[in-house]
Amino acid sequence: MTTVITGGSRGIGAAAVELFAKRGDRVFFLYEKEHEAARAVAEKTGARAICCDVADAQGVKAAFSQIGDVDILVNNAGICYYGLMSQMAESQWDRIFDVNVKGIFNCVNAATPSFLQKQRGCIINVASMWGRTGASCEAAYSATKGAVIALTKALAKELGPSGIRVNAVAPGVILTDMCANVDPEILAELAEEAPLGRNGSAMDVAKAMEYLADAQFVTGHILNVDGGYVI
Ligand code: NAD
Repeated sequence: MTTVITGGSRGIGAAAVELFAKRGDRVFFLYEKEHEAARAVAEKTGARAICCDVADAQGVKAAFSQIGDVDILVNNAGICYYGLMSQMAESQWDRIFDVNVKGIFNCVNAATPSFLQKQRGCIINVASMWGRTGASCEAAYSATKGAVIALTKALAKELGPSGIRVNAVAPGVILTDMCANVDPEILAELAEEAPLGRNGSAMDVAKAMEYLADAQFVTGHILNVDGGYVI
């Protein structure tokens, strides 16, 4: 299997790189900027790192032409923005949509010819529980993740007849760098609100991705990985 994971240099993506590489997949991961972290993940796992901004269509095309045939695409790269929407600059709004939504458009379109040729493929998108419920001070982020959920369902319908499955994970609070600036007290409160009483790890999400990669009769599904926060 050739598996491509975007945003693999740290956090959830790095855990997915580790898990899929351990299964024996030929893993490529895309990352932006963090050369040192990417090198460390590549050395640890044997995966190949490609520096590429998923929002850049030409860069994504060039990256996929280096990779060749693809079996599994994990659209994990994402950024967040915390603050009142009224104080968000237009450029910040555009950038979060460019990375979180257009990045998926670019990567799916780059991988689809390979899937169509085999009439088989698997796409796993990374949404968020905030894409289901909305979060105050994360309006743009919530909107991008809501878009990821709708995109996942629409693509599952569009690509299913070609043998391509499209699913998403909707993580809850996962302890990665993305949460590094969140007040520890708020993180503790969020953990208490989840029936399982804890926040998640990057590997918790990677394991849910592995399930979706293997579940051959599952498509159009949004799998909560949130300790039961959204039921
Ligand atoms: P993180 O900030 O630790 O890692 C993000 C990764 O994405 C990094 O490898 C970074 O290099 C990469 N990236 C960012 N912009 C990119 C771009 N333009 N092109 C290519 N790569 C880019 O974040 P994380 O917590 O591991 O989040 C991974 C995914 O999970 C994101 O889509 C995020 O929205 C989602 N998510 C995270 C949480 C959480 O609590 N951590 C919860 C729900 C969903």
